[in-house]
Amino acid sequence: IVEARAIHKHFGHLHVLKGVDLTVAEKELVFLIGPSGSGKSTLLRCLNRLEDPTSGTVTVDGIDMLDPKTDINKARQRIGMVFQSFNLYPHMTALGNVMLALRKVLGMGRAEAEAKAKAALDRVHLADRADHYPLQLSGGQQQRVAIARAIALEPRVMLFDEPTSALDPELVGGVLAVMRELREDGMTMVVVSHEMGFAKAAADRVVFMADGAIVEEGKPAEIFANPQHARTRAFISQIE
Ligand code: ATP
Ligand code: MG
Repeated sequence: IVEARAIHKHFGHLHVLKGVDLTVAEKELVFLIGPSGSGKSTLLRCLNRLEDPTSGTVTVDGIDMLDPKTDINKARQRIGMVFQSFNLYPHMTALGNVMLALRKVLGMGRAEAEAKAKAALDRVHLADRADHYPLQLSGGQQQRVAIARAIALEPRVMLFDEPTSALDPELVGGVLAVMRELREDGMTMVVVSHEMGFAKAAADRVVFMADGAIVEEGKPAEIFANPQHARTRAFISQIE
C-alpha cells in the first residue's frame, strides 16, 4: 500500500537519504529503528510529502505522491501522522480538536463530525474525557486524542514518529495499547520508536536504518536475536 523507491533527500550539502526502498503491505506494521540522525523522520516525512524527496518515487494507496498533478491535500487525507508532540489546540476540548479535523479536512457537517469524533475518542478509550481541554489531560491522554484525530479521518496508513518519547514512563503503556488495538483492527502502520518490547510484540517487520540507508530488515525475532550486520548488532546491544 506504500511503495517508496530509490528515495534520496538532500538538505543543502547534507545527503540524508541515500536511496531508500520501502514497501509496506496492507495491514502490515513496519517498525523503523536506527541511530539518531539516520534519517527515520525524514523518510516518514517523505512518505506524506511533508518533505519533498530530491529524487525517487512514492506511491501511497495507488496514488503517485510526487506527481505534480496529484492533489496533495487530498492524497494526504489517506495518511495519518502522529508525532512526538501532540499539537492539540489548547482552547478546544478533546472532542473539539477531533471535530475540527473532520470539519476542516473533510468538510463534514457539525452533527456528523461530532458523531465520528465521539466514535474515534471511544476507540482510544477517552469517551469520558471528550469535554476536557488538553491541559486537563495527561500527556498520554493528549497523545491518544492526537491518535483519535488522525484515525477519525479514516486513513489507509498511519505513520508514527516517536509517539511515546515525550511521555512519562507510566503513560507509555496506554498509548502503545491503543496502537496495538489499531493494528489488530487491521490498520497499516509505520512506527518509529525506541519501544523494542512493542516491536517484538506487534511488529511484522523491523527495518534498521543507518546513515540514510536501510542496512537490514526482517522479522523482529530475527533482527533482535540474530542481527546479520555489525551496525545492527552494535545498535541493538546498546538499546537493550
Ligand atoms: P532522531 O532519532 O534523532 O529523531 P532521525 O533518524 O529521525 O533522528 P532525521 O530527523 O531524519 O533523523 O535527520 C536526518 C539528518 O537530516 C540529520 O542529520 C538532520 O540534522 C538532518 N535534517 C533533518 N531535517 C532537516 C532540515 N529541515 N534541514 C536540514 N537538515 C535536516
Ligand atoms: Mg526523528
